[in-house]
Amino acid sequence: MFKQLIGSVRSMIRRLRSATSTGGRGHLPFARSSKPAHEAETFGCRYCWPRAANAAWKARHLLEQEVDLIDQSHFHVMILACRRCGQRFVSVFTEMIDWVRGDDAQSWRLIPITSEEQAELSATVSEAELERLGPGRRCLVRDYPTGERPRINWTSGLFVDRHD
Ligand SMILES: [Zn+2]
Repeated sequence: MFKQLIGSVRSMIRRLRSATSTGGRGHLPFARSSKPAHEAETFGCRYCWPRAANAAWKARHLLEQEVDLIDQSHFHVMILACRRCGQRFVSVFTEMIDWVRGDDAQSWRLIPITSEEQAELSATVSEAELERLGPGRRCLVRDYPTGERPRINWTSGLFVDRHD
């Protein structure tokens, strides 16, 4: 009888402890998951980086060209800047020649970068270096595949398409 009482008191303490620690654990995933969602909002302003992909593509034309990193006819990489908020973007243009019909496949990608990332970009940036920029970050893509209509979408992170 006495042992039973001790046992039930112990199990009550265990329940209390586990309830407290569940509360503590419950808070952590929230803190962790709020970071990536928050990151997307810390780039640019409503003029240069709107939520809708089509609007962002229109806004891209208002960005100022700052530096040419790679300037080849089928592979053009540059840094663009917003005149209003100063946000820097890496813009990547790639093209594959369609030798048969002359309907070259083209792709434009645009991703915002931090000032640290900008400072670390080498003058002769490699494709691997470009693809390491902002993993999981919102990236604007305008694809114009051979024989198809252009598509404007959001993707995650920067990917450098095949090019001539
Ligand atoms: Zn801006």
